[in-house]
Amino acid sequence: MPELPEVETTRRGIAPYLEGQRVSRVIVRERRLRWPIPEDLDVRLSGQVIECVERRAKYLLIKAETGSLISHLGMSGSLRLVECGLPAAKHEHVDIELESGLALRYTDPRRFGALLWSVDPLQHVLLSKLGPEPLTELFDGERLYQLSRGRSMAVKPFIMDNAVVVGVGNIYATEALFAAGIDPRREAGTISRARYLKLTAAIKRILAHAIERGGTTLRDFVGGDGQPGYFQQELFVYGRGGEFCKNCGSTLREVKLGQRASVYCPRCQR
Ligand SMILES: [Zn+2]
Repeated sequence: MPELPEVETTRRGIAPYLEGQRVSRVIVRERRLRWPIPEDLDVRLSGQVIECVERRAKYLLIKAETGSLISHLGMSGSLRLVECGLPAAKHEHVDIELESGLALRYTDPRRFGALLWSVDPLQHVLLSKLGPEPLTELFDGERLYQLSRGRSMAVKPFIMDNAVVVGVGNIYATEALFAAGIDPRREAGTISRARYLKLTAAIKRILAHAIERGGTTLRDFVGGDGQPGYFQQELFVYGRGGEFCKNCGSTLREVKLGQRASVYCPRCQR
């Protein structure tokens, strides 16, 4: 599933080819995504110049003159640039053709993604209640400390809650808790301010590193498959239950927290 770094990498990959370009037409071959693609999307978007491509949480906002296309990649979606008129393979549901001769092509085998239209995307029901972006100053240890007081839920689902902070998916929550030495099962309300400061720094560092690594794959957005290829990044605990801790050699344990698999080191994380 694309996480925040993949979505940011996608944004950086496609933006230079979209910004300042006029849309000539929109071709929708399959309208049934998580929500139906609006029937009038072609009418709304064609003829407009794309001003910028922004990101909020895992949503891409392709801003045109009278509104924005809100895109979410769901479980299996991707965006890349192709030559206009390139025959579409299976699962290549949408082409947004530009006067430059390139088209932004949306592919999504599982169709859990979204392409929606909004005149005011930040006020859209999907976006209006989201917490701060993790790589901004609005997200800090003090926020986690204050919001967690009195909360008995485990810290891992707490930091994965989009109302607390956006974009901390399972991989990054698992790795950041290991880096901060915090047991993912610990009650959020019992963790000290100092430890939340450490956790916040770890989340920012790990996400920033993943985005930096994704930057090396930007060429894949034109002609390639549009899939950021940086999953090779070194993982300390995620997906390594039963293996040895790279830090102390103990056997890593796996538990379920909030329906998600969580791996941790019983010696390094308290
Ligand atoms: Zn360890």
